[in-house]
Amino acid sequence: MTTGPAQPLDLDAVRAQFPGLRAETGERPLAYLDSASTAQKPRRVIEALHGVYAGTCANVHRGVHRASERATAAFEAARERVRGFIGASAREEVIFTSGTTAALNLVAAAYGDAHVRAGDEVVVSEMEHHSNLVPWQLLCARRGARLVRWAVEEDGRLELAGLERVLSPRTRVVAVTHASNSLGFTNDIAAISRLVRQRDAALVVDGAQAVAHAVVDVQALDCDFYAFSGHKLYGPTGVGVLYGKRERLAATPPWQGGGEMILDVEFSRATYNALPYKLEAGTPNIAGAVGLAAAIDWVEETGIDAIAAHERALLIHARERLEALPGVRLVGPARPAERGRAAPILSLVVDGVHPHDVGTVLDHEGVAVRTGHHCTQPLLRALGLDATVRASLAAYNTREELERLAAGLTRARELFT
Ligand code: PMP
Repeated sequence: MTTGPAQPLDLDAVRAQFPGLRAETGERPLAYLDSASTAQKPRRVIEALHGVYAGTCANVHRGVHRASERATAAFEAARERVRGFIGASAREEVIFTSGTTAALNLVAAAYGDAHVRAGDEVVVSEMEHHSNLVPWQLLCARRGARLVRWAVEEDGRLELAGLERVLSPRTRVVAVTHASNSLGFTNDIAAISRLVRQRDAALVVDGAQAVAHAVVDVQALDCDFYAFSGHKLYGPTGVGVLYGKRERLAATPPWQGGGEMILDVEFSRATYNALPYKLEAGTPNIAGAVGLAAAIDWVEETGIDAIAAHERALLIHARERLEALPGVRLVGPARPAERGRAAPILSLVVDGVHPHDVGTVLDHEGVAVRTGHHCTQPLLRALGLDATVRASLAAYNTREELERLAAGLTRARELFT
């Protein structure tokens, strides 16, 4: 991801704020290189969660009592915090969900069912996490629509020409990830949007791997929907966001029915609440939203540019280091253009050693990585792979941890070949 000049991070001060980095995991200290799965949480997020339950523990939007008013104020302040963070133009455009998966399912089920008809086409990139593919498969099956593949190139990247080839007058939705969770490729969403705008289609972006690593401005990206999870942004699990352009959300019927999403209910019909509540049935994850706002506070105070610059420096160093190791092959961005804007993810294979075995050896060394298909089976299959080892970086990672990764990879090769 590209960023401007930034003050260097005070890494010791950053690390001191993350109690999880000092977790007991065996003889060796933890080198946590799995933040693309879930990031560690800074103390202020943990304290914000504790504060909700130990302080203003009440439901939102329901009570006339002051505890409920305080809870509502904190919850709506969190929405406003998210709005500012992603540059949405109005709070009505920020829907709280339980995560990226729920947000994407909401779009596919509610917007999709209303706007995709038999014979229409839904274009999905081959780079997607299963949570931005399977909901579209389900939609197409329900509606008799056609799922159209925007195929990746030989190295796994997406080219705009590939999208141009598959867009048609029947295209109703284009679903694409902002950044690949398994390989790190980052897509130019604004350029994709310009192409999609030429059709009567909605652009749905999976931002799960992007929001923690660069400034995201949904208006500059000009996407219709943008989904992300709190827990990959140093926030709690169980909370996420669906951003939608106001007119798209207005054209989205309710997905789930229940409390909060209604204005008035008669036995045989109901009228629905205004946005954003229309799409937030039931008691929301109040503590999660407040925790997510605390995570955004942390990211903004630390400086997203500073975080991005730190991660970029680590990524460049790690690529050089790992590429020099015999028998280790990096998978993913190889050309300078893609490398220059990639998310901080190192996906690799070790000759002759199954990724799971590599992961187990690394775990013995205290190095936490993810191994497997990373919920992107079509992408890995397109590259002739079924699994990789993935090390993913965040604000708190160090060069020393990357040295331990390199040493662990060498050790795995010695043990298994
Ligand atoms: N999309 C991408 C690109 C992801 O990396 C993930 C999480 N691995 C998801 C979607 C799903 O996120 P969640 O499990 O938080 O709903």
